[in-house]
Amino acid sequence: MSATDDAQAASAQAANAQAESAAYFEQLRTFAGLEIGVQALAPDEVNVPMVRHWCEAMGDTNPVYLDRAAAESSVHGGLVAPPTMLQAWVMRPFGEARDESDTNPYAQLTKLVESKGFTSVVATNCEQSYDRYLRPGDRLTMRTVIDAVSEEKTTGLGTGHFITTRQDYFDAAGERVGSMLFRILKFRPAAKKPAAPAARAMRPRPSVTHDIAFWFEGLQQGKLLIQRCADCGTLRHPAGPMCRNCHSLAWDTIEASGTGTIHSFVVVHYPQIPSIDYPNQVVLVDLPEGIRVVANTVDTTPEQLQIGAAVQLVVQHCDDALSLPFFKVVNS
Ligand code: ZN
Repeated sequence: MSATDDAQAASAQAANAQAESAAYFEQLRTFAGLEIGVQALAPDEVNVPMVRHWCEAMGDTNPVYLDRAAAESSVHGGLVAPPTMLQAWVMRPFGEARDESDTNPYAQLTKLVESKGFTSVVATNCEQSYDRYLRPGDRLTMRTVIDAVSEEKTTGLGTGHFITTRQDYFDAAGERVGSMLFRILKFRPAAKKPAAPAARAMRPRPSVTHDIAFWFEGLQQGKLLIQRCADCGTLRHPAGPMCRNCHSLAWDTIEASGTGTIHSFVVVHYPQIPSIDYPNQVVLVDLPEGIRVVANTVDTTPEQLQIGAAVQLVVQHCDDALSLPFFKVVNS
C-alpha cells in the first residue's frame, strides 16, 4: 500500500469510530425520560417511631418532630417528619432483589454502558427538594424516571457517563410531596499498573558465631565441611567448640563427599516464611562420613521423598551473604 492508501484507511477507520460513537450516544439519549418499573408503595405510613430512631441517629432535637405539645403550638400545628427522611419511607426492603429484568430500562441502560467498558460505579450527587412537610399517617408512593445520561466525561476517577435518576414522591391524594435527583458515574476503571515483580524475600539470617563461621564460609566456596576432633578424629555436626568424646578443643575439618541417604523427612506447610517455597521439604540426611545433616531438598518431587532414598548434595548461593546445603534425590 502507498502512503496515500494508508492515510485513507486511517481516516476511514477514524470516521467509522466516530459514527459508532455517535450511534452509541444517540442510543444512550433514548433512555432519558423512561420510567423505571412500577410505582413503589411505602411499606409503612410516616410514623413517629421511625422518626424517633432517625432523630436519635442524627442527633436532631427539633421539638416539632417528637414533642407533640411543642409541635401543636408551632407553625406546623402538629408533629411533622424531618424532610430529609423522604427517601427512608419508600426504601426497598432489606434483602429484596433489584429488578434486573430485560424489560427494566435502567437494567438495559446499565448493560449498554457496561458493554462499552464503563463497569465501575460511584454515587456522585443526591439532591432532594420538598413540596411540603410530611405528617404521621401520610403513605407515599414513588415513581422513578431516568432523568439524564451525560455524554462521555473524563473525571479524576476515569472516563464514563453520569446517569441521573429522579424519584418523585406522592401522597395518597396523588399530590407530589418531594423529589430526589440521584446521580451516579458509570466509569471505566483505570488500568491497573502491572505490579512490579516482588523482590524475593531473603532467607532468614543464621546467627553465625565464632564456633560455626567456618561451616558457612565453606558453603560460600561450595563445600560442605564437617568438623573433626584434631586429637581423636571424631566427627561432629552441628559444629561446636569441644569434642564430646575426648573433650579436646582442637579441631580441623574434612569435606563431605556430597552423597547420602534420607534418614527421615518432614513437609512443612505452615507457618509460611516468604523466602521459602511451599510445601517445604526438610530432610535429615545420613552422610556416609557418619553424621546427619538437616537441609531442604532441591529438584525433588513429593513422590521422590522416601526414607532411604539416595541424595546428592547441591550447595546453593541463596544470596550474596548466604550459601546453604540442599539435597536432591537421585534415582538409582
Ligand atoms: Zn576428640
